[in-house]
Amino acid sequence: MFDELSQRFEDAVKGLRGQAAISETNVDGALRDVRRALLEADVSLPVVKEFIEEVRRKAVGAEVVRGVSPDQQFIQLVHAQLVETMGGANAPLARAAEGPTVILMAGLQGAGKTTATAKLGLHLKEQGRRPLLVAADIYRPAAIDQLQTLGRQIGVEVFSLGSETSPEAIAAAGVARGREEGFDTVLVDTAGRLQIDTAMMEEMVRIREASHPDEVLLVVDSMIGQEAADLTRAFHEQVGITGAVLTKLDGDSRGGAALSIRKVSGAPIKFIGTGEKVEALQPFHPERMASRILG
Ligand code: GDP
Repeated sequence: MFDELSQRFEDAVKGLRGQAAISETNVDGALRDVRRALLEADVSLPVVKEFIEEVRRKAVGAEVVRGVSPDQQFIQLVHAQLVETMGGANAPLARAAEGPTVILMAGLQGAGKTTATAKLGLHLKEQGRRPLLVAADIYRPAAIDQLQTLGRQIGVEVFSLGSETSPEAIAAAGVARGREEGFDTVLVDTAGRLQIDTAMMEEMVRIREASHPDEVLLVVDSMIGQEAADLTRAFHEQVGITGAVLTKLDGDSRGGAALSIRKVSGAPIKFIGTGEKVEALQPFHPERMASRILG
């Protein structure tokens, strides 16, 4: 993996060769190249700037380890910093101490929320858990049908009260049903809007207050790239998120959104979506994403 990276950074890190320590001047060119790679991966600019400064702080004055060339050492440092920034290791889903674990799925319309709700349901079922899906997206006419169809497909029960009841009442009733019938996880699919708006945020807060979630997962389409920073900030400040699901990584996105989400909110990305099928969900691994972002 480092071979691939060093190929890309070959020119930029040439100046580091033969040095006993990495200095301010000889690291500049290499940092410029890292900056370019991050911007090409569509990481938001303030996030890039902060990241570069962190790497600079760590790189300058670092003693070159015997047996490792300074350029390789620099690349490893960048890679390690990316992994650390994205949380180091995979972060598992929270579990309630008693009663069903409640997970709210939030995000913009089209991000892949309904699909991710079913994907997570299948993932949990395959682990021997007993999930219940709750259809609280009452505005997009097809959303309830879509969740019911997916639920049948994966053999997981879907709770719905139609589209005439408020989303917070549906969420509360869904959690109550989950508790009464011994489900161990309740996944609530909520409504998104085309863009961030006050009505959506206020509704999310009402749903949160009605359902006392253990997790609020922000579902983010990886194709939105640097816009993920503002989106995450808005959801985190107004609703409070505990994690994220990054979708559509089977597309050509370099995954820069992953770095922005984590940097802005501190919340870990827990899963990635890699296709339209219900099986296309994987736990998020910072290592793999770091390589993808650097390209
Ligand atoms: P919602 O409005 O947030 O509930 O979004 P949906 O779950 O309805 O998904 C919107 C579209 O994105 C649908 O056509 C999904 O099939 C598609 N989609 C969701 N997740 C993925 C993914 O990981 N990869 C790809 N290629 N498509 C996805």
